[in-house]
Amino acid sequence: MMQAKIIICLKEIMLKFTFVLILFFVGSALRAQNKNNCIFNENSLDSLELEAIEKKFKKISLNGNKYREQILIALKYYPELRETRIVFRNKKIKTTMACRPNFFSFFKPHKKRLYIIIISNKENRKEKGVLLKEVPFNAQIGVIGHELAHVADYGSKNMGELIKFGIDYLSKDKKRIIEHKTDSITIAHGLGWQLYDFSKFIITESKASVSYKNYKKDIYYSHNEILDIMKKMPSLYKTLR
Ligand SMILES: [Zn+2]
Repeated sequence: MMQAKIIICLKEIMLKFTFVLILFFVGSALRAQNKNNCIFNENSLDSLELEAIEKKFKKISLNGNKYREQILIALKYYPELRETRIVFRNKKIKTTMACRPNFFSFFKPHKKRLYIIIISNKENRKEKGVLLKEVPFNAQIGVIGHELAHVADYGSKNMGELIKFGIDYLSKDKKRIIEHKTDSITIAHGLGWQLYDFSKFIITESKASVSYKNYKKDIYYSHNEILDIMKKMPSLYKTLR
C-alpha cells in the first residue's frame, strides 16, 4: 500500500518535472527566436528591460507615448543615438511617419540638434494611407526603425548637406535613392524583419488606396527586395523565416 503511494507520488513529481522542462524549452525557443530578431510582440521585453533601454536614451522623452515599447525596442538597435535629442509628435501627415531636424537645428552640429519624428494621427481624406495604430506590432517597430535610420543618417550631415538633402527630397528620383538608402540603414542595424513586415503589410494587407500603395512600391524597397538585402547579411540574419 505504502509502496503504491510512493510510486504515485513519484509519478506526479516526474509529471510536474516534465511539464516544467517543457515550459523551459518553449521559453528558450521563443527567446532564441527573438534573438534572431524575427518577431517582437507586446511581451518580448519585460518592464525592467524597457526601463533599462529608456535610461540609456535619456534625451528621448517617451512620457505618455502609446508606442513607447515599440520605440524602445527599435532604439535598442541604434546605440549611436544614445546622446541624440529626439521628440515624437502626433500630426496629420500623408505618410505613416516622417522625420526631420527641427528648423533651428539645421544650424547646429548633430550633437546639439533636435530631431522630430512625426506620427500621423488622422486619416488623410484625399488619399487613404496607413496610420501607425493600424499596423501590427512587429511592423510598427520596422517603420519606427526606418525613421531612426533617417536620424542616424542626418547625424552624418553638416548644414550644407542637410539643405541639399531637403532640396533632393523634392525630386522623385532622388527621393527614391534616399529612401532606399534609409531602408538599407534600417536593415544593416538589424531591423530587417520588422521592415519586411511593415512593407508587406502596407502592400498586401492594408486598406491603403491603390495610388498610395503604388507610391510606396515606387519609392521604397518591396518586402522581397528587403529579404534579398537581408540574405546578403548572413551574420545579422542567421535564420530566414
Ligand atoms: Zn523615410
